[in-house]
Amino acid sequence: MSKKHAPLRGFKYYTALESQLLHWVRQKFNQLAEAYNIKIVNPPLLAKTSIFQSLGEASDVVKKELYSFTQRDGEEVCLIPEYTRIFVEQMCYENTFHGTFACFGPCFRYERPQLGRYRSFNQISIESIGSNHYMKDIELFCFLRDFLSAIGITDYKIQINSIGTLDDRKKYEQTLKEYFSKHLHKLSDNSKAKFEKKAFLRMLDSKDEEDLIYINKAPKITDFLCDESMQTFHRIKMKLNELNIQFEENPLLVRGLDYYNDLVFEYNHMNLGSQNALLGGGRYDSLFKSVGGPDVAAVGVGIGVERLIHVLEKNEKLIDRLNQKIHLGIIPIEETEYLYALEIFELLKNKVCIDVLYDKTVSQRLKICNKNMYEYVMLIGETERLNQNVVIKDMRNSTSITVSLTELSNYFNNEKNR
Ligand code: AMP
Repeated sequence: MSKKHAPLRGFKYYTALESQLLHWVRQKFNQLAEAYNIKIVNPPLLAKTSIFQSLGEASDVVKKELYSFTQRDGEEVCLIPEYTRIFVEQMCYENTFHGTFACFGPCFRYERPQLGRYRSFNQISIESIGSNHYMKDIELFCFLRDFLSAIGITDYKIQINSIGTLDDRKKYEQTLKEYFSKHLHKLSDNSKAKFEKKAFLRMLDSKDEEDLIYINKAPKITDFLCDESMQTFHRIKMKLNELNIQFEENPLLVRGLDYYNDLVFEYNHMNLGSQNALLGGGRYDSLFKSVGGPDVAAVGVGIGVERLIHVLEKNEKLIDRLNQKIHLGIIPIEETEYLYALEIFELLKNKVCIDVLYDKTVSQRLKICNKNMYEYVMLIGETERLNQNVVIKDMRNSTSITVSLTELSNYFNNEKNR
């Protein structure tokens, strides 16, 4: 690998397998989204910086992670760091306030890169808007269950919490402030900085070991919930139990952005480590209104596609199944055989993966086929063209067989089923 051509820090070139998995996950997602009547929307990837700044002073994303710049007309714009906010913008623009929608595409965050954390990554964002009924939250859990099962991910753990209403949170934040102020000198610099910025809830996110001692003993949001939030949370838990969807309650779970209320959740997977959730979401009933839209309730989730891929890469059975394709190299020896090679390509293109090689000497082309581990190679000469047949060489055992053009399609059908 040449350093000179390496991608930017935090960006990556996808391997063939990662690209294949990305495509496969998208296909599976699209199929299920259609069955669930989830409409796919494609918001722009560049937006006004101000719309993300309005997400709240304390939001980490806004603080330091935006890829923002001034465009030629002087407007401050940024690459989107997530879909919910730009999705809300689109729905307000289109006056659409009912239904379930999804976005699938790249997001950009200027984060410190590490395993499973990139500066450019893909998210599936699902947003159910127009109802604050708790059964809409449950529908989302059902979708996630079916989606993860469709792509063969089973070993995940669901954590849920309720962060109540804005009022509940204000009371809780005041208590947290008093609590953390007593221990501030013992906390990490990061936590001290969050305290300075009044991001008391975000202090609960710290993974610093010393911080964790105090975080674990901190007052819990669940003791501050109003009756309605408490009841809603209770109903959600009951329904999840009845549906046999297993979860853990984590009273310290808060979400990155400030616009959430009541239900928040995260799914973790042991292959990703505790800091990297597979997906996360929650209810955001006040966001539409707070950005100048109507009073529209919503619940949504953001799924990290690279994290799904990271888990899927370890699924040997799946990888084997995806790679069960036969590769064929076709080598026309002279220009007079080019069109005959294309005719063969047309015949077989839906059955095997074909690479027609025109350049270089025959032995160099054979070497390329070998290097790429093509299972079959056809050398096409004048004799084959005149006899309307081909000689198929099985590269795995160096045997050859002559097959007529009329039998060719059948031959590969049988090979595929072997
Ligand atoms: P968030 O919008 O921060 O709630 O993120 C939703 C999901 O996106 C997370 O649970 C991750 O799976 C994924 N995600 C967030 N940030 C990154 C990142 N920097 N790199 C890869 N995946 C990410």
